[in-house]
Amino acid sequence: MEKSARRVCGTEPENGDGEKISATAKDIVSDLLNQSVTAVKGIGAEMATGLADMNILTIKDLLEHFPYRYEDYRLRDLAEVKHEERVTVEGVVHGEPSLMYHGRKKSRLTVRILVDRYLIKVVFFNQPYLKQKIIVNETITVTGKWDQHRQTITGTSMTVGGYSKDKEFEPVYAVKGKVTVKVIRRLIQNGFTQYGHEIDEILPGELVQRYKLMQRRDALKVMHFPSGAEDVKQARRRFVYEEFLQFQLKMQALRKFEREQSPGILVNYELAKVKEFIEGLPFPLTNAQKRVVNEILADMKSAYRMNRLLQGDVGSGKTVVAAIALYSAITAGFQGALMVPTEILAEQHHESLTSLLSPLGVQCRLLTSSVKGKRRREILGELQDGTIDVLIGTHALIQDEVSFQRLGLVITDEQHRFGVEQRRVLREKGENPDVLFMTATPIPRTLAITVFGEMDVSIIDELPAGRKTIETYWAKHDMLDRVLSFMEKELVQGRQAYVICPLIEESEKLDYQNAVDVYNTLNVYFGSRYKVGLMHGRLSSAEKEEVMQEFTANQAQVLVSTTVVEVGVNVPNATFMLIYDAERFGLSQLHQLRGRVGRGSEQSYCILLADPKNEVGKERMKIMTDTNDGFVLSEKDLELRGPGDFFGKKQSGMPEFKVADMVHDYRALETARNDAAILVQSEAFWQSENYQSLRKYIQDSGVLSGEKLN
Ligand code: ADP
Ligand code: MG
Repeated sequence: MEKSARRVCGTEPENGDGEKISATAKDIVSDLLNQSVTAVKGIGAEMATGLADMNILTIKDLLEHFPYRYEDYRLRDLAEVKHEERVTVEGVVHGEPSLMYHGRKKSRLTVRILVDRYLIKVVFFNQPYLKQKIIVNETITVTGKWDQHRQTITGTSMTVGGYSKDKEFEPVYAVKGKVTVKVIRRLIQNGFTQYGHEIDEILPGELVQRYKLMQRRDALKVMHFPSGAEDVKQARRRFVYEEFLQFQLKMQALRKFEREQSPGILVNYELAKVKEFIEGLPFPLTNAQKRVVNEILADMKSAYRMNRLLQGDVGSGKTVVAAIALYSAITAGFQGALMVPTEILAEQHHESLTSLLSPLGVQCRLLTSSVKGKRRREILGELQDGTIDVLIGTHALIQDEVSFQRLGLVITDEQHRFGVEQRRVLREKGENPDVLFMTATPIPRTLAITVFGEMDVSIIDELPAGRKTIETYWAKHDMLDRVLSFMEKELVQGRQAYVICPLIEESEKLDYQNAVDVYNTLNVYFGSRYKVGLMHGRLSSAEKEEVMQEFTANQAQVLVSTTVVEVGVNVPNATFMLIYDAERFGLSQLHQLRGRVGRGSEQSYCILLADPKNEVGKERMKIMTDTNDGFVLSEKDLELRGPGDFFGKKQSGMPEFKVADMVHDYRALETARNDAAILVQSEAFWQSENYQSLRKYIQDSGVLSGEKLN
């Protein structure tokens, strides 16, 4: 096993006997496809520039520029067509068409046609010349978008006469500038005629057979020159699998490589001490916590370097799991680090870890960018001489100046926004420390195995007993008065409340203004009865800390805040949360926010103030009031918003697929992942000719040499 990994990483692949494998004839052939597109008939320098703008440089790029959809010219029964779907229908013209101009160039042509038993309207914009072709009582065939409410098709094309079946599907391509759909169709046609025969199968025969996949060349042909719906489906299925398999091979190879090439450290923790610590906790661990603790400890004790993602819903008790892992490392003579995204969270973790671990003589310290001067130097010194056992902090932790004496375990909390690259940087801090990533954003399985494909995953899927579910209600803005009196009922009983203002991404200023407005409104409303605090991103960290302190100590009963309180904040006496403009948030984010209440033994409430404008918005509010299960919510979120939005725009670990869709093709993704995991473990994969193309793909991607990711 070790041998094979070494072989892959070297620049010169060797076969089992140590001989070098020379470039085979196959390699040379496929190089033809790697030539510049200018080799294709009809592509001169100018056209090549246009294509380069679309990232099409080689013949291969051109041939793999797949249509993003197909114009479907099959006749459909209108009763089965959904709102806003594209459709082709055949109908008899019912009455004279009417043409209206507004301005010189803009026109609107309207005609009624009888399709089966429906009388519908067809509208063509800016195609006045069609009018003369439309003759009463004659048949026309129209393609366009169906508006179910208006019973209208907005037509894009029309032919006179009945439907003719010669072209059911036409590919539609993403295009740019001078390269129009018509042009690209012609170029692809030329490319295929000249070079189509060079396209080789890259998947091993056994997989092609197992899944009854279309051969690569055939599939490529169907994608561009489709003969019908079923063919396209099969061709697509083939490329979906290919893309996922390649991607997962990269991830699995990376995982294998990192395991084998970076000998982890063996953390020989003292089991007796660890057990004693667990028994001394104020509560028994849940079964899920026990399970993940075992998984983590097994990783730590192994010679591999741990690279594990710990998922657990808000309140599932990840902190104590982190404490156990850290303590274990300490009993083996190592130091540990806990990294979090915000200072508030760092402070909270510092507090809870200190209270859990200091009775055992463990030294915890806090390091953030606001720790400066003498104090900072002191901490850095103590880190190096080994006085400090656990360092808790923000990104300040992974700066160059921070060096540990013997870092054995790094934990990050709430870092679901990390990309593959950042995960690697973190792992490279210290001498191969074990790494545990914790996240409270329950990541749908599909995404987890895509974005975190190279990691192991542990899941806490159980909340500590006795937790009450948070009652969630959706109210419209005009019900604010009632909501506030509900809130006051809680305050009267000595409880506290959060009020969350919407995040307005484009404008920090508006964000701030929003929070101030709400703050003022509540101050007027509550007068001297309750104190209202205000938290927002413009405060300095000292000011934030002060506001937080005040709220934690119940000197302020209401905390108006932007989303800065989203992660990790723990004030068990807060039982009420009001979220303004809730429709602006993603479901997962709402769930995170909501997780700030319901942390004590009292019943908690969350009110979503929202006037959603569309059905999806209403649907989302309903889902929030219906379920408290973070995993259910995240799956829904993924469905409603798509993977790109799931992590926010900055997400860097998100791969892009040409054909595959992570949400809809998730089954193929899982299959590909399993296949990839098995493949990279087999000797044959690294040696046999059958796998050469796939192997080359992994080598070219650079994952094994650490040059490039994604
Ligand atoms: P999160 O997973 O959201 O980080 P925390 O670690 O903050 O959750 O835990 C939430 C609360 O639950 C804390 O007050 C913690 O002390 C408590 N807790 C954790 N584990 C248990 C358990 N097994 N039984 C009872 N309470 C627990
Ligand atoms: Mg937490």
